Amino acid sequence: MLASDLRELRGVGPSLESSLNQLGIHSSQDLLFHLPFRYEDRTRIHPIGALYPGARVLVEGEVEHSTIVRGRRATLVVVISDGTGRLTLRFFHFRAAQKRQFSRGTQVRCYGEVRGGYQGLDMVHPSYKRILNEADEAVSDRLTPVYPTVEGLGQASWQKLTEQALALLNSGQLELEELLPDDLRGNLKMSPLAEALTYIHRPPAGADVAALVERRHPAQQRLALEELLAHNLSVQQLHRQQRKLRAAGMPSKSTLEQTFLERLPFRLTGAQYRVIDEIHRDLSLDHPMQRLVQGDVGSGKTVVAALAALRTMGNGFQVAMMAPTELLAEQHLRSFTEWLEPLGISPIWLSGKVTGKARQAALDAIEQGAPLVIGTHALMQEGVSFGKLGLAIVDEQHRFGVHQRLALLDKAGAESLHAHQLIMTATPIPRTLAMTAYAGLETSVIDELPPGRKPVTTAVISDERRNEVVSRVAAACREGKQAYWVCTLIEESDAVQAQAAEEVARNLQASLAGIEVGLVHGRMKPQDKQQVMDHFKQGDIQLLVATTVIEVGVDVPNASLMIIENAERLGLAQLHQLRGRVGRGDEQASCVLLYSPPIGPLAKERLNIMRETTDGFRIAEKDLELRGPGEVLGTRQTGMLQFRVADLSRDQQLLESIPAVAERLLKRNPETSAKLIRRWIGDAARFAGV
Ligand code: ADP
Ligand code: MG
Repeated sequence: MLASDLRELRGVGPSLESSLNQLGIHSSQDLLFHLPFRYEDRTRIHPIGALYPGARVLVEGEVEHSTIVRGRRATLVVVISDGTGRLTLRFFHFRAAQKRQFSRGTQVRCYGEVRGGYQGLDMVHPSYKRILNEADEAVSDRLTPVYPTVEGLGQASWQKLTEQALALLNSGQLELEELLPDDLRGNLKMSPLAEALTYIHRPPAGADVAALVERRHPAQQRLALEELLAHNLSVQQLHRQQRKLRAAGMPSKSTLEQTFLERLPFRLTGAQYRVIDEIHRDLSLDHPMQRLVQGDVGSGKTVVAALAALRTMGNGFQVAMMAPTELLAEQHLRSFTEWLEPLGISPIWLSGKVTGKARQAALDAIEQGAPLVIGTHALMQEGVSFGKLGLAIVDEQHRFGVHQRLALLDKAGAESLHAHQLIMTATPIPRTLAMTAYAGLETSVIDELPPGRKPVTTAVISDERRNEVVSRVAAACREGKQAYWVCTLIEESDAVQAQAAEEVARNLQASLAGIEVGLVHGRMKPQDKQQVMDHFKQGDIQLLVATTVIEVGVDVPNASLMIIENAERLGLAQLHQLRGRVGRGDEQASCVLLYSPPIGPLAKERLNIMRETTDGFRIAEKDLELRGPGEVLGTRQTGMLQFRVADLSRDQQLLESIPAVAERLLKRNPETSAKLIRRWIGDAARFAGV
């Protein structure tokens, strides 16, 4: 906790202090890191005659007259003139004293947005001051900062507070240690911290406001760099601390893995073998593994996870596997049951939907050491405790945050041994994100698809040509191929989705005589869903209409055509996942992205990238660029990507240099890294979620 010196500032009493505390501001140093989000240019007085609607400007004039107009609502109307023109000021909220301030002949200076009113130009509720003597006449030579704030804390207060903090800084009373290593700062030609902060809080007249507002100004970039470094450090540190703990080493012991491999209907790819080796090596050590496995859709991560699980279970420890959605978890349950039941291992299932007696039974089994538990977030809930957790596998698709992942580890038994951790990401993550969210994890990449996969060809077609698409589906089905028709209605309830899919299925069946159309959606009972899927797999159904439930968990190699409706509404990652359901067999597969015109340029660009590439890495990069990392990562859940200055997509070029510097700092200068973390992230405990 930093010593608080706020109360020493003029004007700060208990109530202001508590407002500031609410914003995470506990000291004058914190005040300096509370940055303006825009600026007003009050450095120049504009002639009224040259104003135009929309301009935000400073003007000055003499009051010609002022009146209170009584309509539905009393309005104070003041007309000023500077010899070049007239401007009307309107106040809907005012006090009687204000009317008196605007006596005829008074010189007033105001700042506000010019509007084109029906009676000439006006300003509504400008900020203003009366020019009563010479001392009032000077115009500021600095831009006026506008700060993010909370109710009851006006901009004038922020001005006074930051003014004092800057004074302390520039007189040397407040020392802000330079924490950015020289080489990093030097390479990027960045100014020292005090200089940068002064510039950001009080930019000189003529400063590049556009750059400042976008936070591309070198002074801000310098802070962004420091902030990104701090985040990287804190996540790395967290992972490092984990790795230092003690874990049970898991040597190769049983014949389970061999038996499993012999029973698999395919041979592992070279990449899968390599990654499994890396994992097994980590598992054999007596420190917790912290490994991230990246692999594109269909690269075969599940088998890799299964082999890690078998090694752990072979050593007598429990394995927990957590997925972000019910469906994904169900799919894992199905795969693992199919693979492992013949080896005598039955997974325990735990999701939010498991309640009552079934839940209690699951909890008891977990406590008593059931070898394998598969489920959703429910695994992290209260009441779940593992007797002897050896490995936590998290299939996360970027939907879990660092803390949620670590929370699962806290579920391990009370012994001094900690669990190993394996994180799988379904869509390859852009390097930029890997450097922040997954900083400090060991990484393995499955960079090879199982043999025989051909890239899916993709077409982008307007819904107006739906009939052509339906004929194409009919032709394909008559040739013995199978197809998916995916109905997407995002943000709608399961019920509405199901209804829409039912209707699409009915219409398609009506226009496709002789072709068997099936339907799956999220509202069906698992057995019914499975039955339809089985029929599709056996070829009794040629066209499967589905909601996005098939995003995961469908594996029908003969299906070689996919139509996705309203594709413009889905994220790139989801489209990539969906499309990954075709192209698993020998046939050349294709995908049609149907969109409902008109669509905007951004949506068009997204669909185009899907047409151009099937490379998950490129798609993920593009997704980041077009949507921003918050959405890609699901900031709401992760809660860790709330940067004050930095922006992962805007500041990508800054990220490049960070991992190496961070690593060096952690090794050689842990004190500096601790200070950086404290400055930017604050209370380390809060961040670590303990
Ligand atoms: P993802 O990496 O997207 O999770 P999965 O693990 O679901 O991929 O694997 C996709 C499909 O490929 C599954 O049907 C799986 O059984 C199959 N598969 C995995 N590895 C191989 C392999 N080496 N050869 C052939 N098929 C494989
Ligand atoms: Mg998977």
